[in-house]
Amino acid sequence: MTDSVDTVVIGAGVVGLAVARALALAGRDVVVLESREAIGGGISARNSEVIHAGMYYTPGSLKAALCVRGNRLLRAFLASHGVAHRMTGKLIVATSAEEEGRLDEILARGRANGVEGLEPIPAGRAREMEPALSCCAALWSPATGILDTHGAMLALQGEAEDHGAVLALKSPVLSGEAGDRGILLEVGGAEPCRILARQVVNCAGLEAPRVGAAIAGVRQGSVPPAFLCKGNYFLLAGRQPFSRLVYPVPVSAGLGVHYTLDLGGQGRFGPDVEWIDAEDYQVDPHRAEVFYGAIRRYWPGLPEGALQPGYAGIRPKIQGPGDPARDFVLQGAAEHGVAGLVQLYGIESPGLTSSLAIAEKVAEMLEEGRGA
Ligand SMILES: Cc1cc2nc3c(=O)[nH]c(=O)nc-3n(C[C@H](O)[C@H](O)[C@H](O)COP(=O)(O)OP(=O)(O)OC[C@H]3O[C@@H](n4cnc5c(N)ncnc54)[C@H](O)[C@@H]3O)c2cc1C
Repeated sequence: MTDSVDTVVIGAGVVGLAVARALALAGRDVVVLESREAIGGGISARNSEVIHAGMYYTPGSLKAALCVRGNRLLRAFLASHGVAHRMTGKLIVATSAEEEGRLDEILARGRANGVEGLEPIPAGRAREMEPALSCCAALWSPATGILDTHGAMLALQGEAEDHGAVLALKSPVLSGEAGDRGILLEVGGAEPCRILARQVVNCAGLEAPRVGAAIAGVRQGSVPPAFLCKGNYFLLAGRQPFSRLVYPVPVSAGLGVHYTLDLGGQGRFGPDVEWIDAEDYQVDPHRAEVFYGAIRRYWPGLPEGALQPGYAGIRPKIQGPGDPARDFVLQGAAEHGVAGLVQLYGIESPGLTSSLAIAEKVAEMLEEGRGA
């Protein structure tokens, strides 16, 4: 039997849930298909849970625009829906003259991107704020904070469902076929079925390129390659050194081994950068050796043995090691050739911060007919 719906969202991570909410609030009939047994078990479950301010991204890029807008939308959403979050602020620190030059670049980018409140501060002021810190200069970002990601996802799901959206768990999308009446999706799981959707949004995270390529009619060459880039975290035992987030200047493919804390006050360092061939979430304790060196550049007081293996997340990269960084990719029919389909690729950091702005953009694409 084939069911017909207006819009299917593939994937119930933070992005799929934000898209489902936006479309349901706009009065659309939405079904979310999620392959796992619960929402938010993918990339959204394994990240730094930071509300980014948006100073790292190339001005004019989607990452810059959607992070800065997403930061404002997310803070307002968390506040109005009673989701736990705290605007801790963040220090980006330089530990050498060369790194000071990088801070100037980040400041210029942040200002071009419209980041709120970003300011350079001398090392002395940074040390007044965080006495354990060692640095020669710093940037202070008051518009950075931390959140309860799972709480945010539950609130997005709740609001979407209140406006009529339906969530189907254990419902993996296997393939699709574009036709005159919409996109026919083959759904697996315990009760396989076919769903004909007028419009489909592919928010499958790490699986997005595979799902995108499995929709017959999608133009060859429009689906980017998929690469897995693991980020390992180590938890800090004992007294926590900082009350704010502390980041070194960024490294290739990541933001550097930085200090964040969760809402319970547990500090952690990471994520590092490890390119892998298959999904694997084990943290190799030996990687701590590199962490000690990187952290002691800005926190010389890190005691030996204080780092414990924590958890790992995987970045959904669409470029390989050494390739130039890529922007978020939001494709409509003009790019992939299928009416009614929006494909999201490479939604790595700052995807959590940007989720509500991405949802706004997807809704616009569907309305304007770019995906239709
Ligand atoms: C190490 C790390 C740290 C990060 N830190 C931050 C941060 O501090 N701040 C920030 O803003 N961003 C951060 N990010 C980025 C952020 O976590 C992601 O951008 C965001 O979680 C992506 O959400 P998503 O919904 O696209 O993907 P996911 O959460 O992976 O959701 C995709 C969903 O699709 C489902 N799915 C897959 N295939 C199918 C299928 N065939 N059919 C149905 N369902 C399917 C999956 O089960 C999953 O639930 C970080 C990312 C990483 C890896």
